[in-house]
Amino acid sequence: MSPDCLFCGIVEGSIPSQTIDSDERTVAFMDINPATPGHALVVPRAHSADLLEIAAEDLEATTVAAQRLAVRMKDVLDADGINVLNACGAAAWQTVFHFHLHVIPRFEDDPLKLPWIPRGGDEEEIAAIADKLRT
Ligand code: AMP
Ligand code: ZN
Repeated sequence: MSPDCLFCGIVEGSIPSQTIDSDERTVAFMDINPATPGHALVVPRAHSADLLEIAAEDLEATTVAAQRLAVRMKDVLDADGINVLNACGAAAWQTVFHFHLHVIPRFEDDPLKLPWIPRGGDEEEIAAIADKLRT
């Protein structure tokens, strides 16, 4: 529990939410600003700010809970597809600093667009960055 954390408040029940699933390590609830009808969030019960901080066990449990929700969205909402998204850092659009996965049901006719324009990259630049990233 981190004081002043919105999602810690939802986990402990002091802030209202439409909770839809929970287990020992995770809670899932509806996003109040849905990108599509059914947009939900899965969070670990234990506070961690983001992808760089979250413990591996909580990341695993959160991902498995997101998969459970995806299956449910297919079955119950008749979703045509699902996006599972995470924002890590303000530069990557994170606004709530308690790790969460967005689970967004997608429909053939929904208005969402890919947030980048796919275009051919510079092969040398790609290879140079790959060299940096290789461990
Ligand atoms: P992000 O921008 O990736 O950090 O996502 C934060 C998400 O939390 C946004 O999609 C918000 O709509 C959502 N959100 C903010 N406040 C609440 C709340 N009280 N209950 C449910 N979802 C919320
Ligand atoms: Zn928190």
